[in-house]
Amino acid sequence: MDFQTVKGTHDIINKEARYYQSIESLFISVAEIYGYNEFRTPILEYSELFKRDAKDSSDMVRKQMYTFLDLGGRSLTLRPEGTASVARSIVNNKLYAENDFPIKAYYLGPIFRYERPKAGTYRQFIQFGVENIGIDSIYADVETIIMSYRSLKMLGFENLKLKINTLGDQASRDNYKAALIKFFTPFIDKMCSDCKERLKLNPLRILDCKVPEDREIISKAPRMSEYLSKEAKDRFINTKKLLDEVGIPYEVDEGIVRGLDYYSHIVYEFEYVSKSGLNVGALGGGGHYDNLLSEVGGPKLAGVGFAFGIERIYSLLKEDNLLPKLNDGFDFMVMPIGETAINRAFIVADYLRMLGYKAEAIIEKKSFKAMFHKAERKDARYAIMIGEEELKNNEVIIKDIKTQEQTKVKNTDLRDYCDNLFDDHECHCGCNDDDHECCEDEGGCCKHGKK
Ligand code: AMP
Repeated sequence: MDFQTVKGTHDIINKEARYYQSIESLFISVAEIYGYNEFRTPILEYSELFKRDAKDSSDMVRKQMYTFLDLGGRSLTLRPEGTASVARSIVNNKLYAENDFPIKAYYLGPIFRYERPKAGTYRQFIQFGVENIGIDSIYADVETIIMSYRSLKMLGFENLKLKINTLGDQASRDNYKAALIKFFTPFIDKMCSDCKERLKLNPLRILDCKVPEDREIISKAPRMSEYLSKEAKDRFINTKKLLDEVGIPYEVDEGIVRGLDYYSHIVYEFEYVSKSGLNVGALGGGGHYDNLLSEVGGPKLAGVGFAFGIERIYSLLKEDNLLPKLNDGFDFMVMPIGETAINRAFIVADYLRMLGYKAEAIIEKKSFKAMFHKAERKDARYAIMIGEEELKNNEVIIKDIKTQEQTKVKNTDLRDYCDNLFDDHECHCGCNDDDHECCEDEGGCCKHGKK
């Protein structure tokens, strides 16, 4: 039997996984600087969390959810987004009770949507996202934009396009929807079947339609900006002013409506086209919401958040040669010369690892040449060779793979010798104290020579 990955899913392994880790850890470290805490919510949720409203108009809720009955007959859904789960978690854990706002959450993990797979679009993909909940303010809104912009810049993206729009408040949206219904009704028979449905459920969704003939009609539709209440208009003006003040370039695009029903006021998306013209869709996006917390059973608290797709970010960084240089070589490759030295090689590698070095022992019989090939393949800086003579004399030979210089070192001096080789070697016991006398008595780890 030939087992393949499920359509729309993919393995992320070896070097690729390291690149993913480096992208994810950059997002995490920026989020931590901004005071966000991790929320690890379950991937499985009760379906009603996402399908709160029978009239939900988003494609995601209507067509893309992996929903099934478990063996107990409960309807469960593999999460198609992170925001609802974070909101549920805040409500379940009564995090609002302390009245200490904003609640700042970040999440990282797989998201599932039954979409048509294509470049940059999967059925299981990874999102990093944040939610800032409890303070209804343009400062909270803009903070999430700044964070995402700076994270993308730090990853190496230049020529980013940030598109923003406002969906106004409820009254603005109701007026606008009425205007859209009036405008589209005479054309709707000529439009795609999705748009026919959207007209009934939520005419705002029509603005998202990608069918070229429909786009022509859409281009003549009334604009949201004409239907904004004074408050919504002022809020958007102030948001743009703040973005100008913090130096974040943007363009207003009234076509940005975002895929989910809960957004109001600012919505935004980041786009990036590679130097060769590769466009895999938005890198990420976000927006403000007013009613989500109350929809999942909590108090009425506003929030704002964004989500980025790690696959799209990785593929564009790769396409434009922007992936960071990985520091994933071995410090030491320990080579037994002859079978009798394998045991010692194994023990030496274990000792080096305990000191915090990345080390590997070769534990199968191999020729000298094959061992050096392996050391090169694994990007090792030093080879440690142990032959009959070294076994007898309780010593090893350490060879700098680049310069080919080699030295005999007594087993008892190995620790000091290695620490001198790696001046930048860092303490691995977690004390981070240069002066202390750690390790040696505690099973050891690190820079013991520096007391
Ligand atoms: P959304 O939750 O739809 O606003 O999506 C936020 C980000 O997640 C997008 O900008 C993409 O980077 C990523 N994303 C959304 N859907 C997919 C998908 N099917 N495959 C890969 N990445 C996706």
